[in-house]
Amino acid sequence: ETYLADSQRYDSMTYNRSGNSGVLLPALSIGLWHNFGFIDSTQNARNILRCAFDLGITHFDLANNYGPPYGSAEENFGQIFKADFKPYRDELFIATKAGFDMWPGPYGNWGSRKYLIASLDQSLKRMGLDYVDIFYHHRPDPNTPLEETMGALADIVKQGKALYVGISNYQAADTKKAADLLKDQNIPFILHQARYSMFDRWVEKDLLITLEQNGVGCIAFSPLAQGMLTDRYLKGIPKDSRAAKDLTYLNTDTVNSHIDKIQKLNILAEARGQKLSEMAIAWILRQPQVASVLIGASSTNQLIDNVKALDNLNFTDEELKIIDSIVA
Ligand code: NDP
Repeated sequence: ETYLADSQRYDSMTYNRSGNSGVLLPALSIGLWHNFGFIDSTQNARNILRCAFDLGITHFDLANNYGPPYGSAEENFGQIFKADFKPYRDELFIATKAGFDMWPGPYGNWGSRKYLIASLDQSLKRMGLDYVDIFYHHRPDPNTPLEETMGALADIVKQGKALYVGISNYQAADTKKAADLLKDQNIPFILHQARYSMFDRWVEKDLLITLEQNGVGCIAFSPLAQGMLTDRYLKGIPKDSRAAKDLTYLNTDTVNSHIDKIQKLNILAEARGQKLSEMAIAWILRQPQVASVLIGASSTNQLIDNVKALDNLNFTDEELKIIDSIVA
């Protein structure tokens, strides 16, 4: 049936400016890393994207190799876009990336100009788009000069294939160098995509401050530590959970080694009148440099739950200290 977006979709979402740019991002964005491949239910995938947009989530995050198999999340997205979202193209901010393993041989990985330009062309075909809103280099490449990688991003913008560019998983020093190179060419570098959750606080050392100094926003991925910072594992490991599926970086050992901390954090969340997932998201949004928290969801209910984080974003100093001591 025809999708008609909720007329109230902009009434309750918060939008934050990404760095010094003109771009406002929803406080929560949706990622298509899991649950959107050919192995997954297309109807569920479609429902999740419809639900997201109805909640005011205007930013969808993809990458060349999301699936499995590689490319299939973009292909599924292309079908859903064509069926449901075409009339809303200018209300959407769509991302893709290249930087990890994608196709065989020396030109399907890392950070060469050869790889990045070919990969984005493939992504645009799979998604049925003329351009993406932002294109990222997905991870640093220690063996390709940063000048070449940033030069490729710059030319992609000049060719009209992306409006903005970003980087992901870069340390602070290389982020600064990338910002300088892109500034020289007047290329809008507006986002750094970084793993950030209560269980992984590396960005607090020097990345967030570097981003602020360079007018770049942060979008935080795996804010729920892939589901650990929710009620998913409080009573064991459900069969349909990410940790139980043998596909990913999250496994039962990781969950078991964190479960004490998860239980303690859950008690604090209850005292705040929130679910643990809501508290985990709110805790990231307390950082002024973070424009958006990039979540995953395997159901529309998870998405609806997670957006409730916006109902209580405040933390007392005491609560922040308790969190520090639990996760230390
Ligand atoms: P999260 O930490 O948000 O984990 C999402 C998973 O947590 C869901 O799939 C679900 O798992 C579980 N979950 C979510 N909400 C709830 C809830 N309310 N209650 C119970 N369980 C819940 O993020 P992801 O790791 O999925 O990453 C998000 C996005 O970030 C990706 O899709 C991708 O776009 C991006 N990313 C980028 C990377 C990069 O290198 N740049 C790397 C990794 C991610 P379950 O299946 O068990 O239900």
